[in-house]
Amino acid sequence: MEGQIPNGTILRMTDLIIIGGGLAGSEAAWQAAERGLNVTLYEMRPRVQTGAHETEHLAELVCSNSLGSNLPDRASGLLKEECRRLGSMLLECAESAALPAGAALAVDREIFARRVTERIESHPHIKIVREEMTEIPSAPVVVASGPLTSARLSESIAALNGAEHLYFFDAIAPIVSADSINMEIAFRASRYDTGKQDDGDYINCPFTKEEYETFVAALQTAERIELRAFEDAIRTGVKAGTFFEGCLPVEIIAERGAQSLAFGPMRPVGLRDPRVGKRPYAVVQLRQDNLAGDLYNLVGFQTNLKFPEQKRVFRLIPGLERAEIVRFGQMHRNTFIASPKVLRATLQHVSRDDLFFAGQVTGAEGYMGNIATGLLAGWNAARVLRGESALELPQSTMLGALCHYVTHADLRDFQPMKANFGILPPIESDKRLKGRDRARAHSERALAELENFLK
Ligand SMILES: Cc1cc2nc3c(=O)[nH]c(=O)nc-3n(C[C@H](O)[C@H](O)[C@H](O)COP(=O)(O)OP(=O)(O)OC[C@H]3O[C@@H](n4cnc5c(N)ncnc54)[C@H](O)[C@@H]3O)c2cc1C
Repeated sequence: MEGQIPNGTILRMTDLIIIGGGLAGSEAAWQAAERGLNVTLYEMRPRVQTGAHETEHLAELVCSNSLGSNLPDRASGLLKEECRRLGSMLLECAESAALPAGAALAVDREIFARRVTERIESHPHIKIVREEMTEIPSAPVVVASGPLTSARLSESIAALNGAEHLYFFDAIAPIVSADSINMEIAFRASRYDTGKQDDGDYINCPFTKEEYETFVAALQTAERIELRAFEDAIRTGVKAGTFFEGCLPVEIIAERGAQSLAFGPMRPVGLRDPRVGKRPYAVVQLRQDNLAGDLYNLVGFQTNLKFPEQKRVFRLIPGLERAEIVRFGQMHRNTFIASPKVLRATLQHVSRDDLFFAGQVTGAEGYMGNIATGLLAGWNAARVLRGESALELPQSTMLGALCHYVTHADLRDFQPMKANFGILPPIESDKRLKGRDRARAHSERALAELENFLK
């Protein structure tokens, strides 16, 4: 096949272009090449830098060196087991570069990235081109350019989907599991009783004056993740300026004055604590985050605190003393598309069968989720180019559920999501089972259904 790509080059014998040699792109390239496609992988580093990557290796881990738990009754462990069974090359490299880290799979990031790079470089069907791809080509392509997609490619993606369907920033609040909220303290209610549910749409964590002051002091002094230079640059942009003011991290609001939060996201108006029969001094509201109702996000609590600090400080919130944070709040540039509107669960774009998205740019969060979606996109690209239909994994598998979530979530507050048990459809025994037993039941079902599917 011959394809005209925007940079003016004529590619000969390329079946599939992959944009981005990160976690998703490397896995996608491998999967497609193993199925016989000739793949050209575009990676812009080291010529064009992202601001977060430091080497020129493919599959560089930009922050933590942990790919999460290996235990099958943890969401990330289940996703790993699925990827193992689906033949993930990156997981194989990660396991060969593993460090002692208890139940987690942590890697020597240098060895991991070097091994992936060597495997890709030596594959007879993959050619690496170290250039920025500035437009989405009309040839078959997997876009896996990540959260730090280059500006010019972002423009091309925005032109395809409509600018309003490309998000540039991540300002997200933590999400906690519902069963870790202490309902002896927290209470259900909507402001002024305006909710749809009889007992209120929100879970409210009430503060006394003393509790509020302790909490604000802890927030003001907690350790933050330093904003990198690229983020500062973004802050000066027109879009960034307006966006950031609209969703300031809570620690920044707290810095502006001791009462700022009590008049902002923690305002108690329209709420009455049924246990004491009066309005609390302040509240943190939690809103249901998934259909199953087992995940809740802290409304207006986007934060840039270090993860262990989030655990420490947010557990000072009355009712959240033992809260299990399933997604930490964070702020960084994060280019992702409105997948619920423009992507199918096969990771194909709604407008073109031969255009795939994979990795963080789809809104699938976390290293393993990025690898896993890369795997599916590479596999499906090979199927489509061979004239077969693209595969949609069962929703009861973690990968199937993740693809389903990002392509079916409510677009109004669509945010990246990582693997977690809350996105899996309920099972019969859900009502009887709790905690780890429930997780184990989900894992067993997921793996059994994956096996069936593979047969
Ligand atoms: C600062 C930061 C910290 C993070 N920390 C964590 C963490 O600790 N744990 C976690 O699970 N997740 C983390 N993430 C989220 C996410 O899991 C990682 O960003 C992950 O690397 C994303 O994988 P990916 O394959 O989608 O993108 P990437 O791994 O970023 O790969 C995309 C590749 O595309 C290239 N590229 C971009 N534009 C172009 C172009 N136009 N042409 C050619 N190449 C291009 C980039 O150079 C890059 O190599 C973090 C994200 C950021 C931004």
